[in-house]
Amino acid sequence: ANAPSPNFLRAIVENDLAAGTHVREGLPPVITRFPPEPNGYLHIGHAKSICVNFGLARDYQGRCNLRFDDTNPAKEEQEYVDTIIDSVKWLGFSWEQQGESHLYYASDYFERLYLMAEYLITAGYAYVDSQSADDIKKNRGNFGTPGVNSPFRARTPEESLAMFRDMKAGKYKDGEHILRIKMAADSMASPNMTNRDPAIYRIRHAHHHRTGDAWCIYPMYDFTHPISDALENITHSVCTLEFQDHRPFYDWLLATLSEGGFFKLPVPRQYEFARLNLTYVVTSKRKLREMVDEGIVTGWDDPRMPTIVGLRRRGYTPEAIQLFCERIGVSKADGWIDMSTLEGCLRDDLDPKAPRATAVLRPLKLIIDNFPEGESVECSSPVHPHFPERGLRTFPITRELWIEQDDFMEVPSKGYFRYFPPIGDAPGSRVRLRHGYVTECTGVDKDADGNITAVHVKYFEDSKSGTEGSNTYKVKGNIHWVSAATALEAEVRLYDRLFTEAQPDAGGRDWKPFLNPNALEVVTAYLEPGMSAAEPDQRFQFERHGYFVADRVDSTPGKPVFNRVTTLKDSWVK
Ligand code: ATP
Ligand code: MG
Ligand code: MG
Repeated sequence: ANAPSPNFLRAIVENDLAAGTHVREGLPPVITRFPPEPNGYLHIGHAKSICVNFGLARDYQGRCNLRFDDTNPAKEEQEYVDTIIDSVKWLGFSWEQQGESHLYYASDYFERLYLMAEYLITAGYAYVDSQSADDIKKNRGNFGTPGVNSPFRARTPEESLAMFRDMKAGKYKDGEHILRIKMAADSMASPNMTNRDPAIYRIRHAHHHRTGDAWCIYPMYDFTHPISDALENITHSVCTLEFQDHRPFYDWLLATLSEGGFFKLPVPRQYEFARLNLTYVVTSKRKLREMVDEGIVTGWDDPRMPTIVGLRRRGYTPEAIQLFCERIGVSKADGWIDMSTLEGCLRDDLDPKAPRATAVLRPLKLIIDNFPEGESVECSSPVHPHFPERGLRTFPITRELWIEQDDFMEVPSKGYFRYFPPIGDAPGSRVRLRHGYVTECTGVDKDADGNITAVHVKYFEDSKSGTEGSNTYKVKGNIHWVSAATALEAEVRLYDRLFTEAQPDAGGRDWKPFLNPNALEVVTAYLEPGMSAAEPDQRFQFERHGYFVADRVDSTPGKPVFNRVTTLKDSWVK
């Protein structure tokens, strides 16, 4: 029913399908992959990459592999593997097809990668470089300035091979030698810096989370990635724009290894799209980690975090995030997407789904003086105003209620239609208690300091919503309330944007001064009594306030804690 909207990647895939570019026995004609490094938690930027890659597979009857790009032993841990698996599943995607799991680890390819490196040395395409890290950096030159060949570039294949084997055997210390590629005689003068004899192996005496101490040399990303793609029969290797300069090496490596008989043509092709930059957050694992480590947030899943686990706990739905990724599309030009776009997708997703409920977030006591003490009258309201078939929810009205503090003004401003007391000869305002009765304000109680402690009203017994008499009352004010006798007292967390600046880390500046000190306000609220049954992760629209979710971590049976997911309208002001 929902045809995917066109974008340049879909156009490429459709052309390839029409041309039969990737027709291979027993394999789908579209195979993509999502290749995270397990060194942190996924964020909203990764969600875009997940939606793009798994989305292409879904839309063209292909498949998408989940591949852990785990070639850097020092920074990778099982904890991150587990959370990434959870997050991709939660977003609604699967790497299983016809009973087969397509979950892979680049570390499973270490042996094959090693053999390919040996081949490249033997064929004269790779050499062991023994320059110091400083000299390598210096001799690489700069953009616009050619680099200088390493004095070890002329090493014979035999010598390099023997040394590479010694590297593998653990005969050298970290950093003593590296293995580099020579794509061409004059590569060190290439205007493309990544072509200047890229390193493909380095020595690292470090424990790997999966291969343990089996290896002390590890392949570099630029070497591992294209080979992993080819080993997995990837057709379209989709990545972000910063890898554009790496594409010549990607193509060269796979073409060279195909000549060597390692792969059959056609090999995978790389395509780049613009990464997601979202306002009012930072999307860099390093910066997110800093916030966790420094206690700026409570953890990776703090509801203020733009991580998938944070968005989930905040109350975002997988459907809202998928809708967001579809709506922003893919492009070849870097740009910024405003946070309000993500929030808008969430509202569009939740509006038809979320049951309505009443919550008083900043309570003020209201006393209906002519309502009999100890009595209660049942009121009801649709679970959802647009879907009567979802039924009614009921809640009692009693003599004492909670209303919002800002639904009362002692001295009303112009156009204020909610509660205000009698002024001079004029009576107090008339206001409808939603789904209940019309009331008229008769006065207030104050404490010794002059603070208002309660609002007094009288009610009109024949004005109950849904009865005939109710139509004879014309009132402009209409407010929500909960019965003080039966309300559920609950902790409600009012979350707001994490930063006060749209682009907190623009130009690499210090982003911490722009953390929003009001990104979290905790209130004790009163909710309609039925909310005690709210299950963790269940979402509601609290009328007039926004969308809320029962926190998946801190809620206990009968005692939910709520997070505000987003307000009803885009009302964000600094
Ligand atoms: P970070 O910069 O936050 O550390 P990364 O790119 O190093 O992210 P990876 O685990 O390597 O993290 O990312 C996995 C995939 O997600 C890569 O293909 C990467 O291009 C993609 N990705 C990462 N950030 C974004 C983003 N902001 N928008 C779109 N795709 C992204
Ligand atoms: Mg990366
Ligand atoms: Mg990174």
